[in-house]
Amino acid sequence: MPKIVIIGNSAAGFSCTDTLAKLSAGNEITVVSKDKFLPYRRDNLLEYIAGKIPEHSLYIVPKDYYSVEKITYKAGVEVARVDAKKQRVVLKDNTKIDYDFLIIASGLEPELPELPGTSKDGVVAYSGLEEAKAIIEKLLVVNLACCVGKAESCFKLAKVLLDKGKEVKAIISGTCVEPMQHERLEVISDAQPVEIIGEGPELKALKLSNGKVIGTSMIIFASQNFPSSDFLKETDIVRTKNGFIVVDESMKTNIDNIFACGAVAVNLNSGNQEKDWIDASREGWIIGTNLIGMIEEAPKLK
Ligand SMILES: Cc1cc2nc3c(=O)[nH]c(=O)nc-3n(C[C@H](O)[C@H](O)[C@H](O)COP(=O)(O)OP(=O)(O)OC[C@H]3O[C@@H](n4cnc5c(N)ncnc54)[C@H](O)[C@@H]3O)c2cc1C
Repeated sequence: MPKIVIIGNSAAGFSCTDTLAKLSAGNEITVVSKDKFLPYRRDNLLEYIAGKIPEHSLYIVPKDYYSVEKITYKAGVEVARVDAKKQRVVLKDNTKIDYDFLIIASGLEPELPELPGTSKDGVVAYSGLEEAKAIIEKLLVVNLACCVGKAESCFKLAKVLLDKGKEVKAIISGTCVEPMQHERLEVISDAQPVEIIGEGPELKALKLSNGKVIGTSMIIFASQNFPSSDFLKETDIVRTKNGFIVVDESMKTNIDNIFACGAVAVNLNSGNQEKDWIDASREGWIIGTNLIGMIEEAPKLK
């Protein structure tokens, strides 16, 4: 019975898990995810924040999915390192999980900019369900919010906040094909945040590089995302300078029994580096089906 470990439980990781579970019986599958939730539709989070869909509709599977499919699901735990020689994943609490095949679907991580004050209440890096919940809670008491990041992401977020009756300052970088206008929206494209001002944990204002100070108790940083692959530092797995895992057409890394898919993976021969939900899911499915073939052809693993 081959032991398969999958790091990540979102579009790519879940699609791979489900393909293996549905098409190949008898594998020992362990899924490890920093997310403490069941797999959910990250691409529907804005609708959730907008109040258009309830939380339960974000979840892709019912609560008993993992027990029914006989998959070990370790939720809310972080992979600290991979020992490719011993074929072992080591969690932050030092738990070790052995594998025959490792699939890395660890996606992108939000990162707050290196500014004074980012730890204050109401400063959020918009990325996952936990942050979406924090935004919803804060919106109950906030009248003016700042959105900081790429124009397109900021405008999508701004639209939701404006629909909720809020005033929005969008501090944008880059351009957007559909610039946004609204009486309660100010778009600032010629300045960047330099300081987050407040007293103790309380957020009071955002200071910009042009000297302007915006009074606010909520700042949402959108699109500051980097590949989550630091846990591979001690391996020989080839990554790009900025941390994307290099894979071939079959999503294999330079190590034969290690694959990567979704937002964390890059095929240097393909132009598409930014992947949406469908791209990531498709790559998880590719690994799942390829792996089934490999297991069938390697009788000692069966
Ligand atoms: C806010 C937001 C809005 C988006 N909106 C859209 C949209 O409208 N339409 C669309 O098509 N796409 C959208 N996307 C993009 C889409 O969500 C991604 O393409 C997709 O989620 C990529 O899936 P993934 O599985 O590769 O990685 P991710 O979704 O990033 O998932 C990574 C997984 O790995 C886990 N993980 C990471 N590091 C570790 C570790 N060290 N140990 C254990 N687990 C770890 C995480 O917990 C998570 O389960 C959006 C993305 C974001 C962030």
